[in-house]
Amino acid sequence: MYRLEAAVLRRRNLGESDRILTVFSRELGKHRFVAKGVRRPGSKLAGHSEPFMISRFMLARTRGLPILSQVETRSAYPRLRLDERAIAVAGLIAERVDVLTAEDEAAPNVFSLVENSLELLDSGAEPARVLLIFDLLLLAEAGFRPGFQTCIACGEALAAEPNAFDLERGGFVCGHCGPAPAGARVVPVNVQKVMRMIDRGDIGQVLAVRVPTELFEQAERLVAEYVATITGRDSTATRVIRDLRLEYDYRSDPSEVEERDVDRREATGP
Ligand SMILES: [Zn+2]
Repeated sequence: MYRLEAAVLRRRNLGESDRILTVFSRELGKHRFVAKGVRRPGSKLAGHSEPFMISRFMLARTRGLPILSQVETRSAYPRLRLDERAIAVAGLIAERVDVLTAEDEAAPNVFSLVENSLELLDSGAEPARVLLIFDLLLLAEAGFRPGFQTCIACGEALAAEPNAFDLERGGFVCGHCGPAPAGARVVPVNVQKVMRMIDRGDIGQVLAVRVPTELFEQAERLVAEYVATITGRDSTATRVIRDLRLEYDYRSDPSEVEERDVDRREATGP
């Protein structure tokens, strides 16, 4: 038997009444096990193994996946559960942790990041800000910290102007280094500023600064594309963005914008 303190990332039904849970734990990082009978009415395990809470799990080793034997809730974050946007962000946080971490590799900093983010959401912090803070810090922990200060091509300090973010190389390209590559997104100055603020670790300032939420959402769309480029996976967030056609200013390739506009007209036609 062994114990884990963990948050549930994903649940998959198994057989008639069981579930496979993927959790992120303080002790072992991402970890999977079976919760037997958890879908039966009145199961003692069910209420404590919901997403977006932190629980203490007691597990039994087997030849296959470990089996959940006991669980108790440590933090239920009840206020988070009353806010649809906070729930959506908590879901994205779980998804990002799932795609950017390896199984059974302890990453206590990532666990603390998840825990702090759930606490912030529960305390009523603006969900879009919490998500961007989480994502940029998680990318840094996972070894994909984007460069915000200098051009990734020439190394010169970036000017306070709309610079292009190269999704493939994970950093900004300055105006002197020629036209932005095809896989780049032009990022407004204020969006760059909030991202740099998070990168510097000024989290209190990011939560308090009086700027429109739209800036954080714009930054988040860029991050979602960057994560999709890194993982080669189409996350829910990326699909949502594409469906809504919330693209950046494609300065590098204006014809692409026109083509997309045509697509949209066709898609919404009779
Ligand atoms: Zn440059």
